[in-house]
Amino acid sequence: MVAAEVRRRISWPKCATVRLLTSAATTPTPAALVIDRSGYQRQSRGMSDTLLSRFLRYVQVDTQSSDTSSSFPSTPGQLELLKMLQQELAELGAADVRMTPHGYVMATIPSTIPRSKGPTVAFLAHVDTALDSPGQGVKPVVHRNYDGRPIRFVDNPRLVLDPTACPELLTAKGKDIVTASGKTLLGADDKAGVAIIMTLVEHLLGNQDLRHGPIRICFTPDEEIGHGVDNLDLKELGADVAYTLDGGPPGEICWETFCADAAEVTIEGISTHPMEARAKGMVNAAYLAGKFLAALPRERCAPETTGGREGFIHPTRIEGKVERATLHFILRDFELAGLAEKRRIIQGICRGLQTAEPRARITCKFRKQYSNMGQWLRQDMRPVELAREAMRAVDLEPYDQAIRGGTDGSRLTEMGLPTPNLFCGEHNAHSPLEWVAVQDMELAVKTCAKLVQLWSAVKRRR
Ligand SMILES: [Zn+2]
Repeated sequence: MVAAEVRRRISWPKCATVRLLTSAATTPTPAALVIDRSGYQRQSRGMSDTLLSRFLRYVQVDTQSSDTSSSFPSTPGQLELLKMLQQELAELGAADVRMTPHGYVMATIPSTIPRSKGPTVAFLAHVDTALDSPGQGVKPVVHRNYDGRPIRFVDNPRLVLDPTACPELLTAKGKDIVTASGKTLLGADDKAGVAIIMTLVEHLLGNQDLRHGPIRICFTPDEEIGHGVDNLDLKELGADVAYTLDGGPPGEICWETFCADAAEVTIEGISTHPMEARAKGMVNAAYLAGKFLAALPRERCAPETTGGREGFIHPTRIEGKVERATLHFILRDFELAGLAEKRRIIQGICRGLQTAEPRARITCKFRKQYSNMGQWLRQDMRPVELAREAMRAVDLEPYDQAIRGGTDGSRLTEMGLPTPNLFCGEHNAHSPLEWVAVQDMELAVKTCAKLVQLWSAVKRRR
């Protein structure tokens, strides 16, 4: 449903017009601040207003996931939004709308081609938001017709979103930008993806003349804590190819991600009273943990010293005292050989430290996290090639972006469902400076609508 803009003057410095945006949708929406420095009011903007209204509703539900929770989804807010999405899919008239016992919300958009032989295409987006910045009490601010000047934040005067530091902002000149208010993240990662997919559902169901094969929709929880597809039943999803909508600027296609391992090094020392430490042979595990970190090749192998296709070893957490210290790492590389090399570096430091201090006990455990989806996609690049074609059809120039991280698609592709990641307009994810342009999200809807038409001309492989 389209948001109704209520003209209500409120005090706000240096802005031509400030309005409060409220939603006419079934779920009540707290007002969002709208800043329009252009001073003119456009008439109905069709799809982009629908998209914006949805997006504003979704970001105001606190869906931050939790890496210390033992439930799935990890937080109740995610279930709240998932239930809203389930209801909305049903109201739009999607088929087979269902929430699984683990909270995944799925639905079907039936084929518009009788006896379609095309593959089933799925679109996925995650409802949870990152843990890096506060995610509760998100107050979205809409900057209509962005004028290219630095953006200041109502709840944090020290924060500035400046085109000199963030040149991508200039690509959004004249567009409608959404930011948070300065205290929290926005949650465009990945509620932009959720709003895009929901608008795609509405668009396809409302235009039955568009020829496409069967489409599956899936909203997932807990992506940010790496558990997004833990309980996803691929048989139930029933797709031949899938796309996550969780990317950056228009035209971006991600079909390569890191290969990822986690490592945990435990150092057991010998604790004594400091008074008799020399006599009783104290071995200080905390001190050895410091030595371990100092031995890492940080200058060429840390996230803060690498870029592009270089991998890294990243100490994420350390806890310890004299008796025992534990160091947690993540290891990343685009190639399996590079990842194995990073395991060897960790093992080598363990051995060196053990030799230097035989009284300590140093052990190391590795855990595989995910793999570069490119390893599988290279064998059949059609999911990527058709996405490029769809983008060109809506006048975008597609470009590849290898992700220095992982997506749910990394694991889905490894499990047998090819799942590249497409742009949805997110910028500065995981930060209070997060922003998204409504018109960029709209381009993603149009790209996906084109994409399903292209897939309908492809014969499904049995
Ligand atoms: Zn994301």
